Amino acid sequence: MRQTLIAGNWKLNGSRQSITDLLAAVAAGLGDDINADVAVCAPYVYIPMVEQLLKGGTLAWGAQNVSEQASGAYTGEVSAAMLAEFSCQYCLVGHSERRSLYHETDEVVAAKFAALKSAGIMPVLCVGESLEERDQGITESVVKQQVLAVINDCGIESLSDAVIAYEPVWAIGTGRTATPEQAQEVHASIRALLAELDKTIADRVQILYGGSMNPANASALLAMPDIDGGLIGGASLKADDFLAICRAA
Ligand code: PEP
Repeated sequence: MRQTLIAGNWKLNGSRQSITDLLAAVAAGLGDDINADVAVCAPYVYIPMVEQLLKGGTLAWGAQNVSEQASGAYTGEVSAAMLAEFSCQYCLVGHSERRSLYHETDEVVAAKFAALKSAGIMPVLCVGESLEERDQGITESVVKQQVLAVINDCGIESLSDAVIAYEPVWAIGTGRTATPEQAQEVHASIRALLAELDKTIADRVQILYGGSMNPANASALLAMPDIDGGLIGGASLKADDFLAICRAA
């Protein structure tokens, strides 16, 4: 039985005050009625503050990006070892906004994934097709290529302590969600791909859905057999909505 994970992705949002308020409200609402691991992925500069606010509690935290480099002349970058110093448990890699706006290739994503593994941080590997690719009927091959890019570089065993997030690009921040059946179909295909290489890892890896998940659609999505949680953007900025999604798990 896979544990459900609900992870918030705050993106480029928040301030000292708003994050303090949000975390206080979320932490206060996380009671026995929540049957999921819960995490928030913060902008880099707020991670030390998030660590101070959350340490010793049940809410985990992480980052939204990492450098593939360990150290050196890479101005503006943050390494996996630096994130580990602030007890980040998770870090997103390959979010579609990083792939499209910052031109991160599958190779770069795989290198970032490897950097996180060596620092003992759980990568959340984001994959997903554009609307054009879905319309062309190539969703599964696009997602397969994104997953295989990591497996070819890091090995199938690297997924034994990693999370995959299926996020159709057309559903991120658009208010348009994949139907539970559409999402389940892709999740099952990812798990089948992994099972061809290692059945134990395939059965164990958490595959999250992301893309306009909200309190109204979370239950139906999370009820699907291969949907093991959610990566939540916009709704993770509102304590009530985020908690309602956690309760739906
Ligand atoms: C995301 O950024 O990963 C995401 C799923 O965003 P939203 O929930 O706003 O669609």
